[in-house]
Amino acid sequence: MLQQTQVSRVQEHFYPLFLKKYPTLKALAGAKIDDVLASWSGLGYYSRARNLHKSAILCKEDGLPKSMKELQTLFGVGRYTASAICSFGYHQKVPVVDTNISRVLKRYFALLDEKLIWQMAEKFLNPNEPTKHNLALMDLGSLICTPTNPQCKECPLSFTCKGKNEPELYTKKKKTQYENLELFLGVCIQNNKIALSKSQTKLYKGLLVLPETEPLEENFIASFKHSYTKYRITVNLYKTKTYDENSIWLEAEEMDEAPISSMTKKALKLLG
Ligand code: SF4
Repeated sequence: MLQQTQVSRVQEHFYPLFLKKYPTLKALAGAKIDDVLASWSGLGYYSRARNLHKSAILCKEDGLPKSMKELQTLFGVGRYTASAICSFGYHQKVPVVDTNISRVLKRYFALLDEKLIWQMAEKFLNPNEPTKHNLALMDLGSLICTPTNPQCKECPLSFTCKGKNEPELYTKKKKTQYENLELFLGVCIQNNKIALSKSQTKLYKGLLVLPETEPLEENFIASFKHSYTKYRITVNLYKTKTYDENSIWLEAEEMDEAPISSMTKKALKLLG
């Protein structure tokens, strides 16, 4: 939930509501994917909601697995998520490498080879207090060994840190590759209801979106920009009278409860 949403928004709104609606894995497994996507609406990265749902279905009988290996067989669970569950949930003796810890370790060991990071994290782990060790490294990374201007004088690792003289050298930022997209979407309104369709494309798969349309100049309504994951999207809205037979017709009041993407919400807001 925190991938692209502020901690305070998640803590105050999304997380408690999601847990209230799906208090157990069984409850989540028994929910319809459309409802889960609707609860996720506004958080972006909808594949996470889909993966949570699919994983809940896998775990509904036996509960969440307890080992790194089994956890990584679940949908969307890689080494980092599995290690976080094992360390913070089960207090097992495993290292965790998130963005903050990775930065600390790269600098501390003067690592230029990313591939060695987990190996070094394992060596560095305090076997007597593994969970506290991981939490402490996370805090160190977010408060002291920050991406720019690390506070080496305040750092408890400073004495033995190999990278403290050139900390930025080990954590050069990779440039994000953005993809530009231009969409031409149709707005069909009948009896105060708007026609939406279920997206079959990679972008917003399974969510309700405005359907694509032919960009006829006389039907142009408005354009706006929208960012979603790696995409920088220009959305052009056009009036249309045509609609798909599988269209889902919604009134304004029904939009809040429906699995609608943030891009579609923005478009609907623009339409008033
Ligand atoms: S000494 Fe500086 S570079 Fe090394 S871990 Fe501490 S803050 Fe980071």
